Amino acid sequence: MKMKAIRYYGPLDIRYEDVDIKEPEEGEVLVKIQAALTCGTDIKTFRRGHPVLIKKTPSGFGHEFSGIIEKTGKNVIGFQPGDRVVAANSAPCGKCFFCQKKQYNLCENLDLLNGAYAEYITVPKRIVEKNLLKIPTGLSFEKAAFAEPLANVVHGVEVTEIQPGDTVGVVGIGPIGLMFAKLAKLKGAKVIAAGRNPLKLQMAKEFANCDEVIDLKKYTHPEKIFRSFTSEGRGLDVAVECVGLPEIWEKMFEIVRKGGKVHLFGGCKSGTKVNIDTKRIHYDEVKIISAFHHTPQYFREALELIANGHVDVTKLITKKMSLSEAKEAIMTHERGEAIKVLLTP
Ligand SMILES: [Zn+2]
Ligand SMILES: [Zn+2]
Repeated sequence: MKMKAIRYYGPLDIRYEDVDIKEPEEGEVLVKIQAALTCGTDIKTFRRGHPVLIKKTPSGFGHEFSGIIEKTGKNVIGFQPGDRVVAANSAPCGKCFFCQKKQYNLCENLDLLNGAYAEYITVPKRIVEKNLLKIPTGLSFEKAAFAEPLANVVHGVEVTEIQPGDTVGVVGIGPIGLMFAKLAKLKGAKVIAAGRNPLKLQMAKEFANCDEVIDLKKYTHPEKIFRSFTSEGRGLDVAVECVGLPEIWEKMFEIVRKGGKVHLFGGCKSGTKVNIDTKRIHYDEVKIISAFHHTPQYFREALELIANGHVDVTKLITKKMSLSEAKEAIMTHERGEAIKVLLTP
């Protein structure tokens, strides 16, 4: 049987094609995709490839999706055709050094899944066992598809240990920054978000309910503005970088208070380096935090936050397109004309 799918051939080369549907083998399930979302990672991959996510080409593309189980392979426990499901894009092996230390996100054998931009996706055994969840009754496919990106953010927010009353600054308000700001609000923090794109600045209010929004286009020294929102200008309790640029990583140390935390959440291009004043780290005791990816537990917590209505993710879908328009959807996302684009087959 054939299906329509987007396939990745290399940087700037993705094609909408007819491909064979991979029959589910033992432990696998075939999911008929109902909703897929664009993600910043897909944009990066589209531009320059991805050493971890895509190892050989042509490859499936896209990793945030939800759908209905079409068929199950042998020995699949707990799932059957017709079930509404959402899957994470990876699952830890449970056996390696890092898994034994319960650092599942650092697993050496993360089984990564691509191919959300398609009519069907075959979910591998390990993801079926560890990171395939039934969508709660009444929850839409498009909302459920947010469980994976939100799981990254739940991870980031949990390890930051935000306290009620903290003043948290979030720099960079793409979908990840916006979700970070939203979860920091739910933790009882005062949140200041900063960015440049008018649509995203508006979302910082409407979606994330930020207390203050800074339009970085208006200031040459935004550090001062951040500090002006903190008690006696001391600086932020927590400064979060959600851009992924070394020069912005460095800036975070100018807006955080003594004893505060800097969370470097935006992954930079590999090989890049930063310069940090050692005084800030030692004498000022600024703590550096950085969280990568997610774990099965955070994936479950994320789906719950969506299901119980605490995070109204649908606001982040600002454009809808069909699968055949995936390339245009990626460009639209990249140009900042959408927060996330919903793709449906
Ligand atoms: Zn993603
Ligand atoms: Zn492992």
